[in-house]
Amino acid sequence: MEIYRLPALSDNYIFLLHDQNQKIGAVVDPAEVRPVLEKLDLLGAELVSIFNTHHHPDHVGANQQLIQKFPQLKVYGGIEDRGRIPGQQVFLQEGDRVQFADRVAEVLFVPGHTIGHIAYYFPSVALGETGELFCGDTLFAGGCGHLFEGTPAQMLESLSKLRNLPNNTRVWCAHEYTLKNLQFAMTVDKQNVDLQSRFAEVKAARRRNEATVPSMIGVEKRTNPFLRWEQPALQLAVQSQDPVQTFARLRGKKDKF
Ligand code: ZN
Ligand code: FE
Repeated sequence: MEIYRLPALSDNYIFLLHDQNQKIGAVVDPAEVRPVLEKLDLLGAELVSIFNTHHHPDHVGANQQLIQKFPQLKVYGGIEDRGRIPGQQVFLQEGDRVQFADRVAEVLFVPGHTIGHIAYYFPSVALGETGELFCGDTLFAGGCGHLFEGTPAQMLESLSKLRNLPNNTRVWCAHEYTLKNLQFAMTVDKQNVDLQSRFAEVKAARRRNEATVPSMIGVEKRTNPFLRWEQPALQLAVQSQDPVQTFARLRGKKDKF
């Protein structure tokens, strides 16, 4: 399975999964039609699936037009998003499995950003190879999604689930927010040397106009403040030792950053 990252709108990424042998593709969170059709055309592939993580327009915006173009395709989304995802045919919950070509993804229920949010996790198929996590707006490189519908406790549980994935899991999050996220991270965890060097790398990458997605779970665990609620430095920064309160206060600070 090859994965292509297609920039869309102002800072979204659409991910196109491609199987060379079967000449089929699947998209995760198609915000726009044009980049998807262009890439499929180049690859000579037919679109068979849309994997949606949640119902926001910048994630489902192209569903309807893609269905028109490929009437056979299947639209996947979370069961709690019933009625909110255009064309949805498959209603997924925690532990369900979905297939693309020869790969199987596990569905993780990760509410918080929205109450119906899910993630798709393709475990690594061979030693030394990466797993692939498509997590929408739940976990970002260096940050996490805004709590539009869920509670801090829900988001903490969702992020715990993602944090438990193997370190060599690539994190394909749906927005290029990394630089701003790390700027915030530096205000609450500035003694963290891993964070300092990541911040420098990301600044340089963005100056060269390079994407910073995908990230890796191992890197996120060491540098993302929203996965580090047990760390004394972060607890000190928000004056709490309670995990949910620490997380909630960090999220609150980020909202005002
Ligand atoms: Zn969203
Ligand atoms: Fe989004």
